Amino acid sequence: MHLLSPPDRTEPRPRRSSRPSRPSAAEVLRYGERYADLRDRHLADTLILEDAVEEREEISAHERITCHVHRRWTHECIASPMHVIPVTGHRWCRRCEAEASVAVDELTGSVTVVCTRCRQVLETAANRQVVRTCRASLAAAHESRRARAQAQSSASAAA
Ligand SMILES: [Zn+2]
Ligand SMILES: [Zn+2]
Repeated sequence: MHLLSPPDRTEPRPRRSSRPSRPSAAEVLRYGERYADLRDRHLADTLILEDAVEEREEISAHERITCHVHRRWTHECIASPMHVIPVTGHRWCRRCEAEASVAVDELTGSVTVVCTRCRQVLETAANRQVVRTCRASLAAAHESRRARAQAQSSASAAA
């Protein structure tokens, strides 16, 4: 009797988790110059990676956890007037036609978008996306800080 070997069970992983966390050498060469002076290399790597992925049209600018314009984590520059986009409804209250502010609590990680006029918490799709990306960027920035502190303490222990 001839037994067939079992079928290959490796299933394709979901796209998000298969996305590399570091840019390739080619991507660093192509997009890295803009971020060469950033001290936080994890932030720079994430910027390079998101520039590359955005150019491949795999994510939109609104889904990014880093900001191409301000070269920062999204939650750090979301307060800039440049992030108020009435056309798409990001940081915008359509009912009042007024801008919204984003409250970011670094300690608890909570993020809310509140209209500056009616003081309502805005739950539209665009404003929920602001909350989502700010939460994710907050978590990534924390992780980056923790990794750097760890690297620093192990470097001083080795010295
Ligand atoms: Zn920005
Ligand atoms: Zn309002």
